[in-house]
Amino acid sequence: MQEQREENDSCKEMPHQPHVVSLFALVGMSICAVMAVTALFNNNVFLTSSLFFASFIYFVAYFVYKKYDNVQLSSAIVLYSLYLLMFYLVYTGGVEQTGPLWVYVVAPVSVFIHGLKRGLIDIAVFIFIISLIMFIPTDIVFHTTYSTEFKLRLIFSFSTVTFLSALYEYSREKSYKHMLELNFKYQQLAHIDPLTKLSNRRNALNILQQEQSRIERNKEALSIILCDVDHFKHINDKYGHSAGDAVLVELSHLFNIQMRKQDCISRWGGEEFLFILPQTNAENANVIAEKILLKLNKYALNYNDEKIKVTVSMGIAQFDGSQSIDAVINNADNLLYQAKNSGRNQIFPKFENNKT
Ligand code: GH3
Ligand code: MG
Ligand code: MG
Repeated sequence: MQEQREENDSCKEMPHQPHVVSLFALVGMSICAVMAVTALFNNNVFLTSSLFFASFIYFVAYFVYKKYDNVQLSSAIVLYSLYLLMFYLVYTGGVEQTGPLWVYVVAPVSVFIHGLKRGLIDIAVFIFIISLIMFIPTDIVFHTTYSTEFKLRLIFSFSTVTFLSALYEYSREKSYKHMLELNFKYQQLAHIDPLTKLSNRRNALNILQQEQSRIERNKEALSIILCDVDHFKHINDKYGHSAGDAVLVELSHLFNIQMRKQDCISRWGGEEFLFILPQTNAENANVIAEKILLKLNKYALNYNDEKIKVTVSMGIAQFDGSQSIDAVINNADNLLYQAKNSGRNQIFPKFENNKT
């Protein structure tokens, strides 16, 4: 049950965006194929084969995602093959020196695939390499030459596009995190009682349903305890409603300490709690109920220097595998009623070891 309370935390990470990565691969594959055909008509054999090769690599990225569901590998292929293609276009100039015009694609794709931080690091390395390619003297490494003005403007305009892409990604990540927080908050509201922070009735019913199908499969025992605070109205009347609230919170802590990790403690209604005890028959549930009763009998809750004595009554029912959840809860409710009628501060049914 503890895991259920914690499972919401696990969704805090940013997700990969698998569908978009596969879309990038498909778009990259198509654009490269179209450009390759254009280069073929221009009789540029080397560019044609390079672009067909790039198109094939994008196909591989798509295939890796579809066949092996490996988003990380697929996005790495998409991104780094894009980098290599851009290095090639800057190095050769592409068709009539227009190759460098494609570098702007790198900025949004990098931050989109790797997120803000890693994306910006990748882009910094990318800028460093294309600057190296463009500025290295041709007598050291032969490459297409561009005017100094062109090279500087390319780098400045590329940096501007990077800045805008980073800004966009930053706001996207921020609103995504905000949405996750809201989602977490609403999930909490839907499952957790705001006062005691215990599972609420709805969550308890969900857990009971899951447990019921589990015991049907595994033939394990499952018991529930319905626990109601005795004369709670009197506590409210004597000490005030806030004191009543504080008592409910303090009782919840106490139940949490007494119960085992696998048990679920829920606030069933006003001053009524439902405990769900997996792998526990009614007799063992009674031992746990006894412990709580004894603890409370020796205990006085502290509220504004007042010592408030609280007792509870409990009804225990065990699932026999064929009864509905409603029937078992009704059973526990009837036993709780008997405990109340028999003078409160006790557990029904009575077992041999009952000390009350
Ligand atoms: P019994 O021993 O028969 O259970 O008597 P009781 O007084 O506990 O039961 P009753 O049903 O007469 O009264 C329950 C009271 O619990 C009435 C209601 O105002 C109070 N109550 C329900 N929810 C809350 C809450 O969240 N905070 C506070 N302070 N009181 C609550
Ligand atoms: Mg009561
Ligand atoms: Mg009640």
